[in-house]
Amino acid sequence: MFAGDVDAFLGDPARLLADDGSDLDYPSDKPHLYTLPAVRERLRPVLGLLPAAVFECLVKERKLVILASASPCEPWKGSPGDVDPIAHGSYSARGRYLHDPVMFRLEFSALDPPWVMKLGRIDVELAPPDVFAGVLIHECMHVYLDHNYGPLNPDRAAIQQREDEALRCACELGFRPQTAAYVRYYSERFARPDLIIGRLPSNSS
Ligand SMILES: [Zn+2]
Repeated sequence: MFAGDVDAFLGDPARLLADDGSDLDYPSDKPHLYTLPAVRERLRPVLGLLPAAVFECLVKERKLVILASASPCEPWKGSPGDVDPIAHGSYSARGRYLHDPVMFRLEFSALDPPWVMKLGRIDVELAPPDVFAGVLIHECMHVYLDHNYGPLNPDRAAIQQREDEALRCACELGFRPQTAAYVRYYSERFARPDLIIGRLPSNSS
């Protein structure tokens, strides 16, 4: 029954969207990774690992929408072949994230917006399976914990606190291996001062 819920979610065109970036002038050279069947195949086994109560919260209370897109957040001034950990990373936001043009193509109620999870080029195109799982679970934790900044412009300490909390929650739910893979991957390949990554809790927690 739970697997059926995941399939129902993934089969709903209002809940899962994908684009290869070509119509916003940032085409991926791997468009086959952005077809709905390809995205579904990768999401299904990971979402199926979530506790039923968590997945139900994401779907019913947070009204989760997942968008896999090669289109970058702005401002981004890199060359077309480069990937950038922020412009092409993944994130989640309640309603529209104003610095991402692709968000303006989604239609939803301004009064009661869904949580939107964007999966960017790094995770769709480059991340190995354990990292992809770690990122997806991590973003699910932000949504589950309702980490909504709203109109606030949070400082680094506030962001760090929420990143740490999301990692801790994932580890408590049994996703420490995937979470560690995600943290290691981003820390080693994309370390940058403006990229704030959560800190893994100690093994005892
Ligand atoms: Zn995060």
